[in-house]
Amino acid sequence: MTENVSSASNCDESRLNPDIAIVGGGMVGLSLALLIVQQLPKLRVAIYEAEPFAAENQALLQPSFDERSTALSASSVDLFAQLGLWQLMQTRAHPIDLVHVSDRGHIGQTAFSKQDNDGHSLGYVIENKWLGRSLLAAARAQQNIHLVDSARVVELRKRAQCVEYKVQSSKLDVAPIERRASLVVIADGALSPLRQALGIAVEQHRYGQAAVIANVEFDRPHQGQAFERFTRSGPLAFLPLPSLYKNSASSRCALVWTQPEAELASVLNLSDQDFIKKLQEQFGYRLGNIQRVGERQSYPLQMIFAKEQVRSGIALMGNAAHFLHPVAGQGFNLALRDCAQLVACLRDAQIAGASAAELGSLDVLNRYLALQTKDQDATAILSHNFIRLFGSANPILQLGRNMGLIAMTLCSPLQATFFSQMMGRGNARANLARTATSDEVAV
Ligand SMILES: Cc1cc2nc3c(=O)[nH]c(=O)nc-3n(C[C@H](O)[C@H](O)[C@H](O)COP(=O)(O)OP(=O)(O)OC[C@H]3O[C@@H](n4cnc5c(N)ncnc54)[C@H](O)[C@@H]3O)c2cc1C
Repeated sequence: MTENVSSASNCDESRLNPDIAIVGGGMVGLSLALLIVQQLPKLRVAIYEAEPFAAENQALLQPSFDERSTALSASSVDLFAQLGLWQLMQTRAHPIDLVHVSDRGHIGQTAFSKQDNDGHSLGYVIENKWLGRSLLAAARAQQNIHLVDSARVVELRKRAQCVEYKVQSSKLDVAPIERRASLVVIADGALSPLRQALGIAVEQHRYGQAAVIANVEFDRPHQGQAFERFTRSGPLAFLPLPSLYKNSASSRCALVWTQPEAELASVLNLSDQDFIKKLQEQFGYRLGNIQRVGERQSYPLQMIFAKEQVRSGIALMGNAAHFLHPVAGQGFNLALRDCAQLVACLRDAQIAGASAAELGSLDVLNRYLALQTKDQDATAILSHNFIRLFGSANPILQLGRNMGLIAMTLCSPLQATFFSQMMGRGNARANLARTATSDEVAV
């Protein structure tokens, strides 16, 4: 159901107060809404998105769904499968069958293949635009999800029994409308204006780097291989993308290339030919010659962690809660595990007798955070150390990481531990199939 905020005053007002309000209809807000209505089908959820939701076949405008691609871990794929979305998503996703990790100019390298994973693909790569279309179509098909677009939540106020919030239409010059919900989830991105408005402080680490992304075409099929390569300027990742043509082997890859901020402008301003030359020098010829490179975009890199992720009636999710360096490909995968954990805790509370009005209680939200903190910390440490270790030109760290890569090749338990966290196996409760069985709910 789609609500136009400017015409809301003509409707029955109480009907428009949801049980759970989600601020931000990006990849996390939409995924969370779908999880909630699947697991707690009696609840009414509203999603408020500042940008317009695109009509079918029109370009998506939310920042989540730009030109990037996302590496989905095995646990994220399982979650979308359990939501009934994977069949559609998979039509434009490519499996990752081998991850190759190497250090330019050094012998250290390691690889992890689907043979090390009982023959199952290690993950999938999906273009964000397709992910967005699939999520939006699924949300539109749900009666219990109220989609409110071109609508910015501008204020939150905690009351005794609920959270009141104000929604400002960006289409019409009208006063903000007031709504209330038992729980307001803030999923409004890394800069999170609402987090700031609530005075929630963050821990922040600036890497002094930016990620340059682009789609690249090689002259050899990638055969499902992903590459992480450590170069002088910083880590470089290639992810295998599906072919644009039916039944043909794909040689398209999504590039994420870390650059020092001081060198970013010169890299972005290179001609396509010079960019390809520089990239080829750093990556080598494992996939042959680079034929073409698409539009380049850049993203500043930092790690941000909100110092408070929950308050009574309020939870921060996705980039608003934690923003990680993207080269390890963990941000969205972790956010999905957070979402699954939150929904599992809401469900536990409902089974234990909590009413819809009690679902935003601090007890429930603290329980969610207690169960999810270990996974968040492990993933953040993995991403952060990965970048510090592999992004460094310090010869001692270079020697250490080369020995580490060699050790991982020689010692499969070490390799398995590293890839297990990368694949999102940090948390058993992220598996919805398990949370759906009531006899497993009490932990
Ligand atoms: C280059 C790059 C590559 C990445 N690759 C991977 C990867 O391979 N794997 C992985 O797991 N993760 C990856 N990530 C991380 C992933 O992109 C993020 O985890 C994800 O985008 C978080 O989505 P979000 O919905 O929390 O935030 P956003 O995408 O920022 O969405 C926030 C939404 O809130 C809306 N909004 C803002 N303010 C308001 C308001 N007041 N009211 C209403 N709406 C509002 C915005 O319009 C937007 O639609 C990558 C990130 C980058 C930068």
